[in-house]
Amino acid sequence: TDNSSLFGSLFEAPPLKRVVPVLVPLPVPVPYSYAVPEGMHVEPGSVVQVPVGPRQLIGVVWDGESQDGLDPKKLRPITLAFDCPPLSREMRDFVDWVAAYTLSPPGLVARMAVRAPAALDPEPMVEAVRYVGGQPERLTPARVRVLDIARGEDIPWTRSGLAHAAGVSMSVIDGLTAQGVFETVFLPPPPVVAKPEPDYAAPRIEGVQKEAAAEIVASIRDGGFSASLIDGVTGSGKTEVYFEAIAETLRRGKQVLILLPEIALTPAFLERFQDRFGAKPGEWHSDLSPRMREKVWRGVVTGEVRVVAGARSALFLPFEELGLIIVDEEHDPAYKQEDRVFYNARDMAVVRGRIGDFPVVLVSATPSVESQVNGLSGRYNLVQLPTRFGDAALPDLHLIDMRRHAPERGGFLSPLLLRAMGRTIERKEQALLFLNRRGYAPLTLCRVCGHRFQCPQCSSWLVEHRFKSQLQCHQCGYHQHTPEHCPDCGTFDHLVACGPGVERIAEEVEKHFPDARTIVMSSDILGGVKRMRLELEAIANGEADIVIGTQLVAKGHNFPLMTLVGIVDADLGLANGDPRAAERTFQLLSQVTGRAGRTGLKSLGLLQTYQPMHPVMQAIVSGDASAFYEREINEREKAILPPFGRLASIIVSADTRADAETHARALRAAAPKVTGISVLGPAEAPLALVRGRHRFRLLVHGRRNSDMQAFLRVMLNSGPKQRGSVQVQLDVDPQSF
Ligand code: ADP
Ligand code: ZN
Repeated sequence: TDNSSLFGSLFEAPPLKRVVPVLVPLPVPVPYSYAVPEGMHVEPGSVVQVPVGPRQLIGVVWDGESQDGLDPKKLRPITLAFDCPPLSREMRDFVDWVAAYTLSPPGLVARMAVRAPAALDPEPMVEAVRYVGGQPERLTPARVRVLDIARGEDIPWTRSGLAHAAGVSMSVIDGLTAQGVFETVFLPPPPVVAKPEPDYAAPRIEGVQKEAAAEIVASIRDGGFSASLIDGVTGSGKTEVYFEAIAETLRRGKQVLILLPEIALTPAFLERFQDRFGAKPGEWHSDLSPRMREKVWRGVVTGEVRVVAGARSALFLPFEELGLIIVDEEHDPAYKQEDRVFYNARDMAVVRGRIGDFPVVLVSATPSVESQVNGLSGRYNLVQLPTRFGDAALPDLHLIDMRRHAPERGGFLSPLLLRAMGRTIERKEQALLFLNRRGYAPLTLCRVCGHRFQCPQCSSWLVEHRFKSQLQCHQCGYHQHTPEHCPDCGTFDHLVACGPGVERIAEEVEKHFPDARTIVMSSDILGGVKRMRLELEAIANGEADIVIGTQLVAKGHNFPLMTLVGIVDADLGLANGDPRAAERTFQLLSQVTGRAGRTGLKSLGLLQTYQPMHPVMQAIVSGDASAFYEREINEREKAILPPFGRLASIIVSADTRADAETHARALRAAAPKVTGISVLGPAEAPLALVRGRHRFRLLVHGRRNSDMQAFLRVMLNSGPKQRGSVQVQLDVDPQSF
């Protein structure tokens, strides 16, 4: 039977709409209306190009009706509709949800989920060589190795593949080709990414790991939304457990998204995935080439790419059929975007799972207090892995009380730490010194007049970077050549560096261990991500004795020879008044000390502190995180702080202090009276001046069940209009409070 005529007779086709709402990528609260030109087919989710003023922008046709009574003849028409699948209902609901929750313009949220398809040149053929026979005139050991491999298997080899397999340089292959031993052939291009196979190299899983995996896999078999938290010490096998969940999802023919905080810097993760599933996942982060970006996007939309490992922005990829999200290191602050749309990818991942009706798995060795509470209360399935896998043991952790074991004058490393470092490199193992501060010194002052070097446009000190001979602002990037004179009193050569940064620690290390191979790792390293990857690889290969690094080295890396971790200043993160400071410090210190002892070698972690009795220090050395969390949870509950209460921060900034303060006060006056919600401030924001803009902050605090969004909408709508240089930034669930 002819289906089309059958259905055509039963169901009236809906009349073609002539006016449609389109979300444009601008900070406006509602979609704009456009006329649909004759013959153009669009539906909700269609990606289109539309005129806005003199510009052409990429927008997406949205749901709902346009305003009544609009005459299509008076509206501007859609310029063109792109030939790509429309954004699914699920994704449109997700965009609407995120926009409503974060109170962001929906068009700015939608922009993260749509993309105009770009032209993609056909993939070039791959040049390869095939063994034809015979011998070269001269046989070198390198040539023998190549021939041994190439003769064995009568298949074409890519030049680099063969060179790699034989451990020779590509010129050896080219030499043999020139002599006619190899012929050049062309192979079709490889697929975007090969398909991962669920059972490619499944490990044997036993004991606690097996139970944990069974629990998570069961939630996938049950189908539907669920949230789980895998809470296990570093090295306990959490990754293997969630790999089982991925395998099960792949067997069910669904796509998988793995969120990782520093994916660009963890190529080792991609390799590990490949070892387990036989193919690499698609990558998604800001460091991709435009071509790769286009290819992965298309693969995600068409379903060709089955697994994506990505940074937080990957959460908005329009998967054809997503069936599982893993959020690894779920506590990591990098999941929070604080720019345009303020959102936490961890929380929004759970929302996406709920809307798409599939499971979400959060993973951490040091879960956020929020996720802990959800795990303990049973809202999330809590799966715990308390010990390291195999014979790897957690490092022995000790505090160094700096009041009793002071460093020598001008230094920052106590004799105890230096001695441990000496022993470590004698054993040909590696030591890591961790200090979460880039540059040489965080403050420079004049010994004669006391002048302190401050950023001219921010309320922050300039940080000396000695390798670059610069003073830099870490807020705005302002920099100047390191001066020799004090700009205030003019005295020559009396400027002193106060406090340490990693460069200064490197200098101290060099003095004590002149023959050691040291590597300094921080995000301002010359050469960018590429260079950082090489350095990380070098460390993993044992090509350094001492590594001095910022939090860049804390995340996810596996350094087999690293048996000593020294924390230069364990108190550093505790100093600011943020109620989350203890939690963050605990997480960071656990993660850094977890770099040690990933293999069977005995390992040690030494934490330099002036507050050895602080609960964070005690939690770290006792290895008993539960007491620490219990205390943190109690304090949050008493103060009705998240997750027991709700918070939003409103930052008002302007070119002058008075404008910012006046606007903030007027905004506060516009707050409705609602029981359970109160507004604190305005007060100067923690960073009172950034890039020449003065900042005031209002904190909105509500009880758990209060309708924060409704309150904020009323407040912002009835508040003063933004005039002049005034800007208002709203952050629901701020990181610091
Ligand atoms: P985590 O993610 O908790 O830090 P990993 O999953 O990375 O822990 O596991 C730590 C180490 O133990 C890794 O080298 C991993 O390959 C190994 N491992 C974990 N589980 C197994 C297993 N079932 N079989 C073999 N090796 C395992
Ligand atoms: Zn600055």
